[in-house]
Amino acid sequence: MNGEREGVAVSRREAILAAAAGMGLSGAVLAGSGAAVPARAAAGRERVLRLAHMTDIHLQPERRADEGFTAALRHAQSLKDPPQVIVTGGDLIMDCFAADEARTRTQWDLWKRVLRAECSLPLEHCIGNHDIWGWNQKKSGTSGSEPLHGHKWAMEMLGLGSRYRAVDRAGWRMIVLDSTFRVGDSYTARLDEEQFDWLSRTLADTPRATPVVVVSHIPILSASAYFDGDNEKDGDWKVPGAWMHIDARRIKDLFARHANVRLCLSGHIHLVDRVDYLGVTYLCNGAVSGAWWKGSNQECDAGYCVVDLYDDGSFEHAYVTYGWQGVPD
Ligand SMILES: [Zn+2]
Repeated sequence: MNGEREGVAVSRREAILAAAAGMGLSGAVLAGSGAAVPARAAAGRERVLRLAHMTDIHLQPERRADEGFTAALRHAQSLKDPPQVIVTGGDLIMDCFAADEARTRTQWDLWKRVLRAECSLPLEHCIGNHDIWGWNQKKSGTSGSEPLHGHKWAMEMLGLGSRYRAVDRAGWRMIVLDSTFRVGDSYTARLDEEQFDWLSRTLADTPRATPVVVVSHIPILSASAYFDGDNEKDGDWKVPGAWMHIDARRIKDLFARHANVRLCLSGHIHLVDRVDYLGVTYLCNGAVSGAWWKGSNQECDAGYCVVDLYDDGSFEHAYVTYGWQGVPD
């Protein structure tokens, strides 16, 4: 599909690059506008916050992941127009869901070291499935009674008082969710009842004029989830509940009652996509680690998303690659 501009056919990539250039960015893979009207007609609005959404970092001692994450942090902070905050999207370390205590400590130590040395920006953290310690009790060798079992280790590392929360920034409300719902030694993506009630009350308590951005590790709604594996091989598309929120229907019904929910940010799939549905834009924002530090994951290069939030509830976004090649098998 091509767009038309002043009678000249514009390729999709050129259009994306032009949109990203409007944000002062280059190397963008997917860029777009969340204004109700085209960005150019939205003059008069004021940008109130630029954030970098860095998801699926999967920090580990192997494959030069620490150097890669360092490169991503330096890249974001040295943009000509740098972000004011970094929002992490979960899967911050490679994995502690199925890892023992020593391996988990090694990964979080690495996390602390890189952030302390390389990040001078404020951070908002989201917890991913791989950041939850020992829910696979068999593989992790945990009993479940360890003081740091489950979310607690990540919460301590990230300085979080709760696994989900709302924070107000620059006139927007940011709601950070916990997507990972335990099922035996594994998980699915859904909000437990307590969290869904909290989300319902939080949205009800948010002034209608306050735009809302929702951050979840696992996408609530995603197009690229269809391409995460060969999941059509049996003749039907199958998107497992662990790839996309299995309670998406309930969440979109809730969002439909709150027109100020504008934007949802996620990761988990390590692919980039944008879904616009019933007035909400759902961005799946690739992975800082690309294919878990092995290179690109399908068409998705290692990168992060720059998101501009405006005072009128509109936004712009661009996925920015930082040139990291990874260490292939
Ligand atoms: Zn991941």
